[in-house]
Amino acid sequence: MENTPNETTVSEPVETLTPSSSLPEAKVISSLLPESMGLDVLRSSKILPLRIENGILIVGAVSFDAWPKAQMLGVALGYPIDLEIYPDKDISESLHTLYDIRSVAADEAAKSMEGIDDIDDLSREDVLSDSVEVPVIRLVNGLFVDALKQRATDIHVEPYEDEVLIRFRVDGVLQDRLRLPRTHQAPLTSRIKVMAKMDIAEHMAPQDGRIGITLGEQAVDIRVGLVPTQHGERIAMRMLDKGHGLLTLEDLGMEKAEREVMESLIYRPHGMILFTGPTGSGKTTSLYAILQALAKPQVNIITVEDPIEYALPGVGQIQVNEKAGVTFAAALRSILRQDPDIVMIGEMRDFETAHIGVQSSLTGHLVLSTLHTNDSIGALMRLVDMGIEPYLAASCTIGTVAQRLARRLCPHCRRAARVPSVMAKAGVKTAFEPVGCPQCNGTGYRGRLGLYEQFVVNEEIQEAIAAGSPTSKLRDLARAHGFRTLWEIGLDAVGAGKTSPDELIRVAGEE
Ligand SMILES: [Zn+2]
Repeated sequence: MENTPNETTVSEPVETLTPSSSLPEAKVISSLLPESMGLDVLRSSKILPLRIENGILIVGAVSFDAWPKAQMLGVALGYPIDLEIYPDKDISESLHTLYDIRSVAADEAAKSMEGIDDIDDLSREDVLSDSVEVPVIRLVNGLFVDALKQRATDIHVEPYEDEVLIRFRVDGVLQDRLRLPRTHQAPLTSRIKVMAKMDIAEHMAPQDGRIGITLGEQAVDIRVGLVPTQHGERIAMRMLDKGHGLLTLEDLGMEKAEREVMESLIYRPHGMILFTGPTGSGKTTSLYAILQALAKPQVNIITVEDPIEYALPGVGQIQVNEKAGVTFAAALRSILRQDPDIVMIGEMRDFETAHIGVQSSLTGHLVLSTLHTNDSIGALMRLVDMGIEPYLAASCTIGTVAQRLARRLCPHCRRAARVPSVMAKAGVKTAFEPVGCPQCNGTGYRGRLGLYEQFVVNEEIQEAIAAGSPTSKLRDLARAHGFRTLWEIGLDAVGAGKTSPDELIRVAGEE
C-alpha cells in the first residue's frame, strides 16, 4: 500500500462524510484488502473499504451501527476510519462483485507463474518462505481461499500428460476448477508438501500429512494424501473445518418422524446399529452426531476408526494402524477389556471385525458401525455374506440406516420444472430445477440434504431373518410399521422443492 499506515487509533464517530458519488469499482476495493483476508465479516456487517484519504480509511456502510465492525476493519488494515453511508442495495451489489473478482485469485496467481519451468527456477528458500510475493505460495493460498469461499470439502490436484487439473468437491460433487500447464506441477506439489510437513525429496512413495491454516476467524485443518502416479504426484486434500465439522443430531436435518425413529434406536442399552451408503454419503458425520448425543460423563464410549476425522470430547478414540498391527479386530479386542458402554467401529470390513461387533452387542454393549451396501435391509444380508449366522445377525441388529446426501436447491434461483413421469406416477405434483446465481456460485445448489432410510428390526422381522426370508418379505413386514425407501423419502423432498429430480436420481436412482 502506498500510504504509510498510521498508528491505529480508536476514533469516535464524531463526524461522518456524506457520499460524494457512487461506490468505487470492486477492483479498487479489492486492492485495499490483503489477499488472505476473508470477506465474511464485510458481508455479515455490510461494510466495504472505499479509499484512503489523508491517512484515513473511508469505510462504506448501510448504517452507523456498523461502526464497531468498521473499526475492526481499520485495525486490521492499520488505519483510523471514517464512515460513509450508502443504500443497502449498492453495498450488497458491490459485495457480490467483490466476491466474484476475489474468487479468481488462484487463476491470477497461476498466470503470474508463467515462465517458471520447474522447481529449480525457484530457490529453495522461496518455496519454504511464507512470503506471499512468491507466485506458487500465492497460488496455493489462493486455492485454499477459493475452496473455503465455495464451501468445497476437497481439493484434488491431478497431474496428466500435458496439464495439471485442479478440482474442487462442492456439495459432494467434483467440479473442474483450474487447468494449469504441466510446468506448474513441481513447484505446486513441493509447496503443498512443505506445508503438510512431508518429505519433499520423496517422489515414489505415498505420503500423508496435515496443514493447519487460518483465514480470518476461521481455523481449518486440511488432511493431505499424496500418491505417485504415472504423471507425477496426485494430491487429495480434505478440508476439515474445525468450527463446522461436528454436527449435532438436530443439524442432520431429519424430519420429526425420522428423528423419532433414530432416537428410538440409539438410546437402547445394547444392540447393533449399522449405517450404510457409498463414500461421501455422510455416514461418519451421522455417527459423530449420535456419539455426541450419547456422550455423558457416566457413559464410557470408545471408537476404533480409520482415520479419526474429528476429535470428540469425552470419547476415547483409537486410530487403526495396520502396519503396527492395530487392526479393527485387534483394537476391538483390547477395548472390550476397557468395559465400554458404547463402541463405534469405523467400518466392518471382515468377518473377524463383524464377529466381535456381534458378540459385543449381544453381551450388553451398544455397537455402532458402517458397512458397504446400498440399502438398509442389504446391511443384514451383508453380515450374513460375511459369515455371520442369520439368527445371530437377527438377534443383535436393532436397526440399519441407509443414508444419502442430495444437494439442496438454492432457494434464491431455483425454478419450476416438469415432473419426470416416473415421479409423477408416484404422486409428485411439483418439482424445481437449479438455475445458478451469485448466492450459490452459479451452481444452482447450496448445502446438502440428508435422506435416511431406517429399517427397524422388531421381533417379527428377527424371526423372518432367522428363517432366511428374502429381502422383499422383510421389506413388506417393515412397511407395516412405517418403513420407507430412500427413493420414497426423496420424492417428498423433490415435491417440496428441497432438491431436484436429477439429484434424487443421482443419489438414489437404482429403483
Ligand atoms: Zn442460486
